[in-house]
Amino acid sequence: MRSSIVLLLFMLAVLPTLAEKPREFKVQHTDAEWREMLTPEQYQILRHKGTERAGTSSCTYLKDTGNYYCVGCHNLLFSSDSKFESGTGWPSFGIPVEGSVYKELDTSHGMRRWEVLCSDCGGHLGHVFKDGPPPTGLRYCINGKVLKFEKTKE
Ligand SMILES: [Zn+2]
Repeated sequence: MRSSIVLLLFMLAVLPTLAEKPREFKVQHTDAEWREMLTPEQYQILRHKGTERAGTSSCTYLKDTGNYYCVGCHNLLFSSDSKFESGTGWPSFGIPVEGSVYKELDTSHGMRRWEVLCSDCGGHLGHVFKDGPPPTGLRYCINGKVLKFEKTKE
């Protein structure tokens, strides 16, 4: 009897912390709203982890000074300071703006990759690889079609 009470208390204390807590996003929309807000390609990338064809985004070769925002929620993601030409056909950055993205392990397509997602809306942005140039050695490989570039005013 006594041991079952202890077990019950233990379960009450431990179980809630074991349960996977869904991430709460600042920006939330229904699927229909996302469809309305985004172009079909943006919707496919951001909401269904799609990938644009290499070299198809105008962001890729942009060299202007400014900031890159999430097209789904206008979260500031990357500064042009960390952008570099990777030769992959996708916009590449050494580091995101602090706290703007989070990472999840992605084991799809028989690969082990770290997926990069927007912290504010949970939208899929791309992947991060450890073959970038100094100082970070990281390559944030991002779909340019879900980035909105805004030039810094001089
Ligand atoms: Zn976002």
